[in-house]
Amino acid sequence: MILPIPTQPLYYAAPAELTFTALVTQVEVGPSGSNRVALSASAFYPEGGGQNADVGDLTWAGGEAQVTDTQKDKADKASGVIWHTLSGDVPEVGAAVRGVVDARTRWHNMQRHSGEHLLAQAFFRLDSRFAVAAVGMRNAECTIDLAGQPTDADAQAAETLLRETLGRTPLKLRTVEVPETELARYPLRRSTKVTGTVRLVIFEAETGAADGPLFFDVSACGGLHVPWAAMAGPVTVLRTERIKGGLTRVVFMAGEAAAERLADTYQAARALAATFSAGPSDLTARVEALRSSQRDGEAQRSALRSALLRHDLAAAPVEELGAWRLRVLSLTDPASLPIALSAVPAGEVLLVTAPGGKVGLGTPPGLHAGEVLRQALAVSGGQGGGKPDVAQGQTPDPDGLLRALRAALTAS
Ligand SMILES: [Zn+2]
Repeated sequence: MILPIPTQPLYYAAPAELTFTALVTQVEVGPSGSNRVALSASAFYPEGGGQNADVGDLTWAGGEAQVTDTQKDKADKASGVIWHTLSGDVPEVGAAVRGVVDARTRWHNMQRHSGEHLLAQAFFRLDSRFAVAAVGMRNAECTIDLAGQPTDADAQAAETLLRETLGRTPLKLRTVEVPETELARYPLRRSTKVTGTVRLVIFEAETGAADGPLFFDVSACGGLHVPWAAMAGPVTVLRTERIKGGLTRVVFMAGEAAAERLADTYQAARALAATFSAGPSDLTARVEALRSSQRDGEAQRSALRSALLRHDLAAAPVEELGAWRLRVLSLTDPASLPIALSAVPAGEVLLVTAPGGKVGLGTPPGLHAGEVLRQALAVSGGQGGGKPDVAQGQTPDPDGLLRALRAALTAS
């Protein structure tokens, strides 16, 4: 059996070097779109530790392809083989290829990853109970899941602490590989399960003092990070959410993506404020004034509707039917029907009709509105009923209903 040739990773020793040459060591031609190659060396970072895979291009004599994914060999993790998924041509084993990692994707991934370390450290400095349980850096909106139930105010305090730190203190990246027996010398934010040699990602301030640098954050991590912490800024908390397990998910953005989001949000606020002939800082007051004026308008409309209804009610025709006075009011707005039924003139029977065949009946003591309406609706092909004093229903034949009601009142 021939042992697979491991891929020499170039991204740790020279993370800024995005162009490289290498030889193709293995080729896998699968179903459409799943062709992949292993290389003797690679600057493409394989997905891992929460950091997305690098993408980019491969070229060789007579061919070219896009690298759409980079993964460590999953079947044989100890092999050290890194696979590059290709879209395009496929080189042959032994071909010399030139790889170029997409700089923008890589930089954004490094900003997210560094932002995650730095923000987690800011929370940890506020309260050591705010420990990281999980992280997500797949999308521009990243997440850290924290124990200790931090509030929105805590998130703001962490963001402020980090902003002031990044703005005032040059924190340099240093990555070191140390034997696990030496870990006690470093203030690790999170204990690590890694044994043997541990890669530490450190953001620290040079003090010039004999006792060495001032650690800001020390994490055991296999990912890639920006060379200066400030390059991950701004780090902006978008929101917090309570999730299962008593954890709090902090959703944040880092670097250029965060700056773009802040700028877009500001422009949107400015455009909205301009419709009030105001600036963004006046927006809250303007919207509050608008709400207040809307409430006033609603109260006014309601008062006008009542006044109009009282007028219509007084003008509605009245007829004497046996012992009863029947007033018939026809409305144009069905929404006014319940209001009319709450204003039945004393001693009168009030029939209210509205568009859509909606009807209501109000009666004085001695006459059961629910029963009278139900019987009259039965005659006119409708349905409804109600209480002794007021009832409502619907009929396809309002004239028939009125005739049935007149007959019932005359007879009773
Ligand atoms: Zn990391």
